[in-house]
This record gives sequence, structure tokens and C-alpha cells, in this order.
Amino acid sequence: MTKINVTRSSMPELEEYIEEIKNLWETRWLTNMGEKHNSLQDKLCDYLSVRNVSLFTNGHLALEAAIAVMGLTGEVITTPFTFASTTQAIVRCGLTPVFCDINPDDYTIDVSKIEELITDKTSAIIPVHVYGNVCDVYKIEEIAKRHNLKVIYDAAHTFGVRVGDRGIGSFGDASMFSFHATKVFNTIEGGCVTYNDDSLTKELRIQKNFGMEDQDNYPKVAGNAKMNEFQAAMGLCNLRHINGEIEKRKAVAEYYIKRLGKTDGITVWRPQKSVTHNYAYFPVLFDKEKFGKSRDGVAESLGKEGIFARKYFYPITNEFECYKGKFEIQPTPIAKKVSMEVLTLPLYADLAISDVDRICDIILK
Ligand SMILES: *Cc1c(COP(=O)(O)O)cnc(C)c1O
Repeated sequence: MTKINVTRSSMPELEEYIEEIKNLWETRWLTNMGEKHNSLQDKLCDYLSVRNVSLFTNGHLALEAAIAVMGLTGEVITTPFTFASTTQAIVRCGLTPVFCDINPDDYTIDVSKIEELITDKTSAIIPVHVYGNVCDVYKIEEIAKRHNLKVIYDAAHTFGVRVGDRGIGSFGDASMFSFHATKVFNTIEGGCVTYNDDSLTKELRIQKNFGMEDQDNYPKVAGNAKMNEFQAAMGLCNLRHINGEIEKRKAVAEYYIKRLGKTDGITVWRPQKSVTHNYAYFPVLFDKEKFGKSRDGVAESLGKEGIFARKYFYPITNEFECYKGKFEIQPTPIAKKVSMEVLTLPLYADLAISDVDRICDIILK
């Protein structure tokens, strides 16, 4: 029995990667904003249709750097239906997360509930484009303007996603993308911040390089989060094949919709209007009453057959033990309900349609 995991990393042919890294044995420039790093940065500006890209060694540290350069204070409005990274970054930067519920259709922040959470301490909104579904970016922009708040998107799931003809990373003050091995586009580990304000270029460089402005000046307290040349080389290779990878993911997602979309008690992922998706994840909700089996029951049946779906995202971050007693925890009933019912099914470019059939057969049995 072949095991199927929830995801499988995209990789170029070995020969292509070797060709890409070969000249590093001559230049001996292995990190610190080298030639591959700069080339990838330029190519990503193009591909993502954004004004600026700043590369990092991973997405999490990119998010912390974006928070640091915005000079945020006090409270930040965010959602708990996300990967640990979003909330952990806020708390590690000394800020207080204020949890806003999600909407039940696409699991992004419920924009009708943001304003009631704003206080005189609020400095920003950090929403998440969860599963590659985009937030209501226009409404968020309007609210942020009205209350003079910064907006940083956790865009870890939305590599290459477009709203109309705009790259998703062009919205808000900044967006963080993750290039982790499990994401649609990977640099093994890696990530970036995209932004419109050119003056942030220098600030972000200082943040990823020990707070150093030049050899004699250290204006900031900061750590090390630079992307190295081997990571960037992986990115240059993977970027050549990204459109084909997304096309293959699309075929898998559409097949899941066809097989599971009409069953009572199952809610499958659906594309959003005027959005070009990247098919990053395929979340499915199981309503125990209507479907007759709980999410945990389905996960167990799949597991017995060597298929490893994930309870992604469970638990929600406002239930993390490490936050207990540290700050007020706002209840988020919709996020709670979704986290109890959701299962993210295997989805990657090379997943065979026959395997999708096998997965759907087990679910429907
Ligand atoms: C993957 C992920 C991150 C963190 O990115 P890394 O590159 O793994 O550090 C942050 N937020 C979300 C929603 C993610 O899925």
C-alpha cells in the first residue's frame, strides 16, 4: 500500500538544480544577498506583480520583520484560524493579539466584526489569506484607513494568487509569503515580505541582518534571517515550473469537487469570484449529523488505508496553552466550529487522479 501524505514537495530535476548551483563553487559567495538571491528577488517581483520583495530564510521571520518595521504597538486584530506562526509572531513581537472570528464561507476574517474590536490601543490588522482564499481586501483597506491602522497580510498560502489583475501581495502595507517545503512554491525553507513603500527596503535589510545598517552602525536590535544561495537556487528552479504545478493542482482540486461536492453533510472548498487561485489546500468540512461520520472518524478511516489528511487548523490559536492567562481570549465560535469539522485532504501537483478516486471512495463508503 502506497502512503499518501497531505502534501509532497515540488522539486526540479536533480540535474537542473546542480546546473543552477554549479558556479557557487567558483564564486564562493554562499549567502548574504548573493547573485542567486538578487535574481530570485527580481523574478518574484515580476511573478507576484508587486513593487518590492525582500527575501528571508523563512516565512515566520519575514512576518516578524514586517511587524518590526511597521513600528506596531499595543493590540493587533487577527484571526485564530491559522497556523501557529501568525499568532506566535504577534506575541513574540511584544504585541497583544485580539481575536476576530472568521466568516463561514471562506474562513478568512469576518470584516463585519473588525470595528467592534478596535480600541485606542489598536495599531494594526494582521489577517490571513487562509488556504489560498483571499480576505475581503477592499473592505479591510477601508477600515484601516478610517482608523489609521497598518495592515500586514499573512499570505503564506497565496503564492501567485491574483484578485482581478492585481497580485495579492500588492494589498495592505505588507504581505508575508512562505516558501516552506510544503507550500505551493518552495525554496526548501524561505519566505518574503512584499510591500509598496520603497523606504522599507533598507529597514527590512537591517531586520534580517543583525540590526546592522553598515559596518559601523547598528540602529536596531535584530537577529539573522537572511536567505542563502542554495535556497535561492532552489527557488529559481522551482519558479520555472510553477505555472505547470499550479495547473496540475487545479485538476486535482476540480476532481475532488466533482466527486465530493454534491454529498449531503460535506462542504468542499470552492473557488472565489474574480480570484485566480493557486489550489494550495483542499479543506473539507464534515457535519457529523448530516454526513453520519465525524471529521475524526473520516481521518481515522483514511489513516487505516495509509492516507494522511490533516486537521488543519486544529486547535485554533486562541486555545493554545502558552497564551492562557497572558491576555484576554475573545471567543470565536465560527472558527471553533470549523476547526472541529475540517480535514485538509491530500493535494499536490503529482497526486494521481486514481489516488484521488481512492481517497474519495474511502470517504464516501
Ligand atoms: C507556513 C505558514 C507560515 C510560516 O511560514 P514558514 O516559512 O514555515 O516559516 C505562516 N503562516 C501560515 C498561515 C503558514 O501556513
